[in-house]
Amino acid sequence: MKTLISSDVRLLANLIQEGKVVIFPTETVYGIGASTRLESACLRVYEIKGRPKDNPLIAHFHSIESIAAVCELGEVGRALLERFSPGPLTLILPKKDKSLFPKELDTLAVRIPKNPVVREWIELSRGPVSAPSANLSGRPSLTKLSDVLRYFDGVVDGILVAEEPSFGIESTVVSLVGSHPTLLRPGSIESSELLSVVSDLEIPGPTSKYDIRAVPLSPGTKYKHYAPTARVILASKEEFEFSLKTMNESKSTAWIGFSLEGIKPVLENQRIQNHTLGEGKNLCLVSSNEDYASKLYAFFESCDSLGFQTIVCEVPKPGPGEEGLRNRLEKAASI
Ligand code: AMP
Ligand code: MG
Repeated sequence: MKTLISSDVRLLANLIQEGKVVIFPTETVYGIGASTRLESACLRVYEIKGRPKDNPLIAHFHSIESIAAVCELGEVGRALLERFSPGPLTLILPKKDKSLFPKELDTLAVRIPKNPVVREWIELSRGPVSAPSANLSGRPSLTKLSDVLRYFDGVVDGILVAEEPSFGIESTVVSLVGSHPTLLRPGSIESSELLSVVSDLEIPGPTSKYDIRAVPLSPGTKYKHYAPTARVILASKEEFEFSLKTMNESKSTAWIGFSLEGIKPVLENQRIQNHTLGEGKNLCLVSSNEDYASKLYAFFESCDSLGFQTIVCEVPKPGPGEEGLRNRLEKAASI
């Protein structure tokens, strides 16, 4: 199949209207989308990804009003969208328009991406556009066009070329269905920020509690998510530093963590003596939790393609950006 790779929103919107599948960047990760109004197109997304049929998709909208037209938004939903949208927040809402995919659910996951070009494309597509992350099911989400092309050129009908993802981890998901607003998936918008708008937000405990549920009530709960093929080890600052310092000629291990003045001389030395450590290859240094999240999946992807067997990940720093990042790292390490 010839894939249309273009920044022309009109051409790519036409594809969605024709029932085709298009990959597009959002501020979180790349999405693989089809019209929420066309069931067969949405089913093709599942086929391409190898995604289990009982894991629903997020519908992407261009405006709050377009969401209110098809879902019961309510006061809390509107307040949340007004505060955090466009941005990396997904709400689970009761559906008004029952014809939208998936027809068998009376709820819909909705979100408004941040990039105005992407919103224009959604509007021209006569959206919403239903999309999970653009990756093969079970693999980490993709955040680089080069990785998207490696997996999907020739497989999907179109790829929208626009600003690359910057947040790097999937959206925060809040359910407004049921007795209490509930945080279903942590992300870049943190529970402390959500609580400033929804004081009775329920925040479930440790992520591992999710995994025993038989029905996927929330994103990434039933199925393996966010993990590379390589084994992921979460390491404290001390363990991370120790592991780097004592590394021998290991070709099978990679590291991602914070820039540490204390180990810089060690790194220089390693680089000169045996060329085993190199940024962009088996070492990724980050400057903040946000920087860490934005680089994480692309680093996982590159480690897998280079055949590393182990990835040592330093734990996030306490403070902003920790919540979503820690959740993804723990999932990748299967804690
Ligand atoms: P991703 O698969 O990373 O793109 O994230 C999309 C997630 O949104 C999926 O894992 C779903 O579990 C979740 N989701 C979509 N629709 C619903 C819904 N109606 N109720 C609960 N979760 C949903
Ligand atoms: Mg996904």
